[in-house]
Amino acid sequence: MSVPLDWLPDAIEPLKTGGLWRHRRCVTPLADGWCEYEGRKLKNLAGNDYLNLAHEPRVIAAMRDAVEAAGSGVTASALVSGRTPWHQRLEEDLARFHGEESAVLFPTGYAANLGTIAALVGSDDVIFCDRMNHACLVDGCRLSGAKLRIYRHTELDRLAAELQKATDFQRKWIVTDSVFSMEGDIAPLGELCDLAEAHGASIIIDEAHAFGLLGEQGRGAAELLNVESRIAVRIGTLSKALGALGGFVVGSQDLTDWLWNRARTQMFSTALPVPICAAAVAALEIVASEPDRRRSVVLLAEDLRARLRDCGFDVPAGIGPIVPVILGSPEWTLDAAAHLAEAGYLVAAIRPPTVPQGTSRLRITVNAACTEQDLTGLVTALESWQVVRGC
Ligand SMILES: *Cc1c(COP(=O)(O)O)cnc(C)c1O
Repeated sequence: MSVPLDWLPDAIEPLKTGGLWRHRRCVTPLADGWCEYEGRKLKNLAGNDYLNLAHEPRVIAAMRDAVEAAGSGVTASALVSGRTPWHQRLEEDLARFHGEESAVLFPTGYAANLGTIAALVGSDDVIFCDRMNHACLVDGCRLSGAKLRIYRHTELDRLAAELQKATDFQRKWIVTDSVFSMEGDIAPLGELCDLAEAHGASIIIDEAHAFGLLGEQGRGAAELLNVESRIAVRIGTLSKALGALGGFVVGSQDLTDWLWNRARTQMFSTALPVPICAAAVAALEIVASEPDRRRSVVLLAEDLRARLRDCGFDVPAGIGPIVPVILGSPEWTLDAAAHLAEAGYLVAAIRPPTVPQGTSRLRITVNAACTEQDLTGLVTALESWQVVRGC
């Protein structure tokens, strides 16, 4: 007779021997881009607090006021009793910031992507999905029940041909990250809009890593590439550049009305805590009033890419704070990350299945608390690792 779950040890074993085992870390976030990890103070280049807002005194003060006024959790979904004046204010600010009619909040960015795609796309539709899209977009596509076609963002000719062939569907959709989370590059949104318009498709984009950072006003990649009016649905997260938590969709009143009524990850999940809404409102105000934060991050990342390439590292083209260093094997990647931690820098070691086989990488994220000296120290440490390992 088989014992329940007795297959797990055998399933776990290859992960451990293949360098693919995930260790839970316990990291204490500190102010000014630092963190404490295993008893040591390290520069945190593994998070997504791009604008250094998670410890911003104005944000913390806003949270404190809100928690005293309205408590910790709201203990109900938005449509029941969980939507407060703080939620309403955040929705209005997000809509105004984006120049859109309306916004709807979700518990997380993951929930926003999953719930929005599943609510808009039906089983008679076809979705064209970039191969490097974030897991929550892929999961949303699967949940929708639509026919799924995967394309590489370098192969738009193939996408055009596939769009041309797709005639037996009710609607066509193109779903893409605007800045890719593991690659750090930007989707060719202009070309995608041209294709979508030529073939009657609608575009859904996830601005998780571009909102607050790219574009003159910080609205994201669609603003930077001047295609905002051509994108049907814009999704973002409050958990990265804004340093808070929660997902959102901005767009027409019809779009958000539909999502209020049909997006299950919003309807059947508790609304965001009030202090989180207050934090996001305060952070968004800083994004709007202090453009130098985002500019410095974009410039620092550009500089880091150039310096790493000068040392011979494989750094993909990109824009914004995500700087991957592709090392290939998971073991090398873990080894390099451990070496950097020794030198005082916490960076992420990204391995399959998060990225394709053979493309394990360090994922370095630059933030507004970084200095030129930090980057110099980091590059020096990676160079010394290269020398020690003879690669
Ligand atoms: C992090 C991330 C999300 C999920 O956002 P959360 O708010 O953390 O749930 C969605 N899309 C992309 C591209 C991301 O990198």
